[in-house]
Amino acid sequence: AKDGGKNNHAVFEPGMNERALERLGMEADLRRALDREEFRVHYQPKVSVRTGRIVAHEALVRWEHPERGLVPPAEFIPLAEETGLIVPLGRWVLGEACRQAKEWQSWYPTDPPLAMSVNLSAAQFKRPDLGASVAKVLDDTGLDPRDLILEITESMVVEDVTAALVTLRELKALGVKIAVDDFGTGYSSLSYLKRFPVDYLKIDRSFVEGLGRDPKDEGIVSASIELAHALGLEAIAEGVETASQLERLRVLGCGLAQGFFFQKPFPRDTASESLAALFA
Ligand code: C2E
Ligand code: CA
Ligand code: CA
Ligand code: CA
Repeated sequence: AKDGGKNNHAVFEPGMNERALERLGMEADLRRALDREEFRVHYQPKVSVRTGRIVAHEALVRWEHPERGLVPPAEFIPLAEETGLIVPLGRWVLGEACRQAKEWQSWYPTDPPLAMSVNLSAAQFKRPDLGASVAKVLDDTGLDPRDLILEITESMVVEDVTAALVTLRELKALGVKIAVDDFGTGYSSLSYLKRFPVDYLKIDRSFVEGLGRDPKDEGIVSASIELAHALGLEAIAEGVETASQLERLRVLGCGLAQGFFFQKPFPRDTASESLAALFA
């Protein structure tokens, strides 16, 4: 060991202690935030590359902290995950998002109806009552299961492949759709992708970024789109920021795209402006 064998016991460094305290404070904050309803859901459109129309939104959680302001998920999702708070939080996000989808569907009737995409965390995905909990939210909100997309990551399925398959089949039996998020960044396995009942493949922003600039990224994006199509899935490119990236995606035949080029995630009250474009 680097410190000459002193590492058999917990060493209290001042910095560490501070971090532990900060974490503890943050955990208490997080619990309180749920009670005080400090979480917000923002929405980002998923756009058809061919028509330019919004076909769905992705729900992205934020924390409106009384002192710290709007806290991005990267700063509290990991802790929420560790402490199990992600389960009630995730359920709340799902309910909010489904309710919102229903409202937008009634304000902006489209064919097919506007869908809603919700991120699932590993802890949620592992719970045996996930299917029942999703079914209850659909029932409570009246959202058609076909209009709900659940986003999972590859790392969530590799941990216990058999259990994951059972869970996915249960979700599919409800009629909801499944998207594989951040494709290509984790432990991708083509055999899982072949066996698992999924509907969408989301191409990670890190690859989309290099479109039209980096031949390797271009190759990965192009191959991912072809792979999606070969497996009967729809490809979604995430993190589209420029017109030239979008143009490359169009040429490569990508079905859907999301990114700041179209719109940053927005709070529900400002939605009408962006959705009005649907009917322009
Ligand atoms: P993700 O699911 O991959 O979501 C995409 C992230 O990329 C979002 O960050 C979004 O705001 C951002 N993004 C979208 N378009 C662009 C773009 O063109 N350029 C750039 N630079 N970024 C773009 P956000 O909202 O901060 O969320 C980060 C991650 O937190 C999400 O990654 C997801 O893993 C997690 N997350 C967010 N909401 C939830 C939730 O309700 N439940 C769970 N379990 N995780 C969530
Ligand atoms: Ca996502
Ligand atoms: Ca993603
Ligand atoms: Ca990502």
